[in-house]
Amino acid sequence: SRQMRINLNKEVRDVVALLQHTLPRVVQIEVRLEPELADVQADPVQMEQVLVNLANNARDAMPKGGTLLLQTENVVLNAEDARYLGLAPGRHVRLTVADTGNGMDEETRQHIFEPFFTTKDIGKGTGLGLSMVYGIVQDHKGAVTCSSKPGEGATFMILLAALAADT
Ligand code: ADP
Ligand code: MG
Repeated sequence: SRQMRINLNKEVRDVVALLQHTLPRVVQIEVRLEPELADVQADPVQMEQVLVNLANNARDAMPKGGTLLLQTENVVLNAEDARYLGLAPGRHVRLTVADTGNGMDEETRQHIFEPFFTTKDIGKGTGLGLSMVYGIVQDHKGAVTCSSKPGEGATFMILLAALAADT
């Protein structure tokens, strides 16, 4: 992979520009970018692949429409949260992709990152999108989480270590 110093706001903007043309009209896109977002060490092509895979799942979960949120934030992980996520404490960038779609039950949620796991009809899903997301995030020594409630949508978060400010 080609990791370099990048600002994820650019990757979000690029993917949103693509999504404006590809998402059905019933899906509203909401973008919340932290203007002072820290840079990260990452492969921009792979990060866009992550965003596209998450957005495609959000679209599939909202056949009757809803809102897709893409958000960037600076966060500081305390020792407890860092341990839980398998990360070092300190400054991170958090990328959130959330939808207001069908959501999933806890049993499903526990398997979504496994290769070939899908709940979609044959021909509609390969079950590879989230395993790719997981692999890419691992490659970047980051963490990815999912929280969801049936009928209330799903929220995916990706955490990557923030680089120190460029001087
Ligand atoms: P696929 O999209 O081909 O099924 P993925 O690896 O992308 O494979 O996703 C695996 C499964 O995780 C999906 O089949 C679905 O059950 C669940 N899932 C993923 N994203 C969402 C979401 N945003 N809302 C509800 N369920 C989801
Ligand atoms: Mg998918």
